[in-house]
Amino acid sequence: MLDLEALFKLSYGMCIVSSKKGNRFNGCIVNTVFQLVPEPPMVAMSLNIQSLTHEYIADSKVFTVSILSQETPMLFIGKFGFRSGKEIDKFEQINFKIGQTGSPIVLDNTVGFIEAEVAQSIDVVTHTLFIAKIVACETLDGGKEPMTYAYYRDIKHGRTPKTAATYIREKPAAKLKEGITNMKKYKCLMCGYIYDPEVGDPDNDVEAGTAFEDLPDDWVCPECGAGKDEFELVED
Ligand code: FE
Repeated sequence: MLDLEALFKLSYGMCIVSSKKGNRFNGCIVNTVFQLVPEPPMVAMSLNIQSLTHEYIADSKVFTVSILSQETPMLFIGKFGFRSGKEIDKFEQINFKIGQTGSPIVLDNTVGFIEAEVAQSIDVVTHTLFIAKIVACETLDGGKEPMTYAYYRDIKHGRTPKTAATYIREKPAAKLKEGITNMKKYKCLMCGYIYDPEVGDPDNDVEAGTAFEDLPDDWVCPECGAGKDEFELVED
């Protein structure tokens, strides 16, 4: 028996892992950071090979981890989790500082951070396991609770993109029947937002009566920032 949903019972923490390449910064949501040994203090972190943050860490050999608070809004998680740094500058309009490694540290919604230097990289199929030495760490916003992955799933109704280390397919996505133009509702698999064509998305200049298929390719979920390919048809 291989009931992968059992893995949802593991507890993880929600973080933003950031790095640099030259004078460019990028970061993404990661829930697979854990302490490996106490002395010297070291962490391990698993990251998809295709992500831009991976490219930056492979180049600079440093990264930072901003540990997110329970109160982090979905739109903020979406910006770092479901958008690619190849399309947007994730560090625009957020508060961050440059750490002693030169890598950026996200400060918004952060209860603590870690700065680390990569000591070893291990290929694991689609991901790299980075083993890194902690060179600095600090607690911020001491009164706030960190967000666990279980809280993100169960309370915030957040989901995981396919590229994440802990992605588990829950159910097959519904396929759109060919040739049928439809005005059906679509659900964001990341946050549960429902796109209703009868309502449209007036806050983002999408008129009522716009079918999901007719939304522009760069349209994103107004709740969490996930792209159109993270939506699935809502069956009647
Ligand atoms: Fe969403």
